[in-house]
Amino acid sequence: MKTEGQARPEPPRGAEERRKTPRAPKAAEAEKRLTGIPVSPGIAIGQVYDTTEATPETPRRSIAEAEVEAERTRLSEAAALSRKQVGKLKARLAILPEEAQEELEPLLDAYILMLGNSRLLRGARKRIGEELLSAETAVQDEAEAIAAAILATKDDDKAGLNRRAGEVREIARRLVRNLTATPFRSLKGVPQGAILVTEELTPADAALLEPGRIAAVCTEEGGADGHTAIMLRALGIPAVLGCHGLTAAARRGDAAVVDGAAGFLALHPSAETLAAAREGLAAQAKERARLGKLRRLPAETTDGQLVELQANLEIPAELPLLDQAGAQGIGLLRTEFLFMNRPDPPDEDDQVSAYRMIVEAMGHDPVTIRVLDWGGEKEIEGLADTLPAPVGPNPALGLRGLRMLLKRPELLEAQFAAILRVSGLGNVRVLLPMVTVPAEVAAAREIYERVARRLRRRGESLPEKLPPLGAMIETPGAALAADAIALEADFFAIGTNDLAMYTLAVDRAEIDVAHLYDPLHPAVLRLMQFAIEAALRLRMPVSVCGEMAGNPKLVPLLLGLGLRSLSMNASAIPRVKQAVRGLDIDDCARFARRVMEQSDPQRIAELVEEFSRREER
Ligand code: PEP
Ligand code: MG
Repeated sequence: MKTEGQARPEPPRGAEERRKTPRAPKAAEAEKRLTGIPVSPGIAIGQVYDTTEATPETPRRSIAEAEVEAERTRLSEAAALSRKQVGKLKARLAILPEEAQEELEPLLDAYILMLGNSRLLRGARKRIGEELLSAETAVQDEAEAIAAAILATKDDDKAGLNRRAGEVREIARRLVRNLTATPFRSLKGVPQGAILVTEELTPADAALLEPGRIAAVCTEEGGADGHTAIMLRALGIPAVLGCHGLTAAARRGDAAVVDGAAGFLALHPSAETLAAAREGLAAQAKERARLGKLRRLPAETTDGQLVELQANLEIPAELPLLDQAGAQGIGLLRTEFLFMNRPDPPDEDDQVSAYRMIVEAMGHDPVTIRVLDWGGEKEIEGLADTLPAPVGPNPALGLRGLRMLLKRPELLEAQFAAILRVSGLGNVRVLLPMVTVPAEVAAAREIYERVARRLRRRGESLPEKLPPLGAMIETPGAALAADAIALEADFFAIGTNDLAMYTLAVDRAEIDVAHLYDPLHPAVLRLMQFAIEAALRLRMPVSVCGEMAGNPKLVPLLLGLGLRSLSMNASAIPRVKQAVRGLDIDDCARFARRVMEQSDPQRIAELVEEFSRREER
C-alpha cells in the first residue's frame, strides 16, 4: 500500500503488464478529467477495467468433400445464432430514445438481412462446396470479396462505402466468432459494475456487452455517429468515446466517475465530483423505481378508459420479462422461432409442447399465436430446402406468410392442430399473417374448422367455441379491404412494420432508403384509420402490434384513432403505460383529427413532438 505523497514508481512496462497490475490506491491523487464525445447518457461510479479487443484467431482451413454438408450446417447454425443475438438487441429497441431507435433499427435490419439469404451467406455456402473451405474461411473470403467490391464502387461518398464494407466485415466477424465459439475473451472477466476502458470497441463487441454488468464504457477511438455509439445507446450503457489520452492515463482498478451526457471520465474523482455523481445516480434510480411501480397500476386514461397493453414475444426466453413489465397477455406470438435451427419443420407434437408451455405460463391472459410468417426477410435459412422460398426479384411480394401456408396446407394443418390442442388450457387466439384478400381468411378458416373436426373425431377435447381467428392488417390491400376482411375475421391486428414498408415501397432493411421509412406518413395513418374504423363499426377487437405501439409519443395518436389495445416489446410497456395514464381520450381524439388533416409527414412528426412535450409539462 502506498502512503500519501509517495511517488509512484514508473518503470517502463508493457501494456499487458500494465493491465494486469492494479495500481495501488493513493489517498489523495488529484482528479484527472478526460473529456470525449458524449454518446450515451447516464452516470456511473466504479473502477476502471482496461482491456484491448481480442480478435478470434482463425487459421485458414480446407475440408474434405465429405465434410461439405456438415460445414454448411455449421454455417447455418452460426447464422441462426447470430440472427438471434442481433434479434435480441433489436428487441430492446423500443425502450430507447427515439433518435437511437431510428439510427439503430435500419442497421440491425441490415445485419439480420445479411444473416439471412444474403450474398454473404450464399457466397460462403458456395465456397464451402466449390473450394472445399471450412465455414470460417469461406465466410472470411466471401466477406473480403464483397467488401472489396463495395470499396471499388465509383461513389463520392467514401465514408458511406467504408461504412458498408465495415458492416459486411462486422457480420463476418460475428459469424466467425459464433462458428469458433469464441467468447469475447477480453470482456469475459469484466467485474460487475466496472467501467470498461479500451482503445476501440467494435459494434459487435458493444452488441454483446451486458448492460447489467458494465457500468459505463470509455474508449480512446470512436465517434458520435459510429455504429458502436448507436449500440451503446441501444444498450443504455453510459458511454464517452474518443477520449484522447485515455488508455495511457487509466489503470485497472482506478476509481472513476463517468458522465455519459456531459462526456467526461473523471479518474480519482474529487469529493465534489463524487457527490454530484451520486445525486445523478439517485435521480436515475428514482425514475426506474417509478416505472417499476407502474407494473401494478392499470393502464387507464385520466377519464377512466382502460387500454390493454400486451407483449410481442419472439422466443420463449422472453416470458419472464412479461410479468415484470406487467403485460396483459401476449398480443403477438411470432412462431418463427419454432422453425429455426432445424433441418425439418417441427411436427404437431413439437409445437404442442412449445405452445402449452407458453399458454400455461400466461394463465388466463390472452395468448395470440400467429401462424408461421415465412418469406420475405423472414426466410429461415435451415429450412431453405424444405419450405418454398419466395423467388424472383421481390421476395417480400412473393410467397410469404399465409400465401405460403395455403400453398402448403399440411404445414398450416399441423400448426392449427397444435394450437387447437392447447386452446382449452388458456385464452388462445389465432392470427394469420400477410392477408391481402378476404378469400384467404375464408380458406384458412375452412382448414381450421376441418382440423378441429378431425381432432374431435380423434377424441381430443376442444373448447366448444373455437378460439377466434384473426387477420393481420399489414398490407395496403388488406387495410383498404378491411371492411370485407372484417366479415371473415374475428379480430384484427395491425402490423405497422409491414404496413409502412408495403405502403411506402420502402424496404426497412435497405439503409439507402431508410430515411423514407416513416409510419407517420399520412398514407400509412389513413390506411390504419380505415382498418380501425372497419373493425369498430362491427365491434370487432382491433389492436396494433407493430413497433409503433411501443412508442410512448405515438400513444395519443393511436388512442385518438380509436385503439384500446396495443401489443409491443415487453420492455416498452411501462413507458407506454405511463403515457396512457396521463392522457384524456377526448384530447387524444382531437389530436388525432388534427393529425389526420395533415398531408406532410414532417408536420405530423412535429405535431406528435409538440403534443408529447405538452404532456410532459
Ligand atoms: C408487423 O409487420 O408490423 C408485424 C407486427 O409483424 P412482423 O414484424 O413480425 O412482420
Ligand atoms: Mg409483419
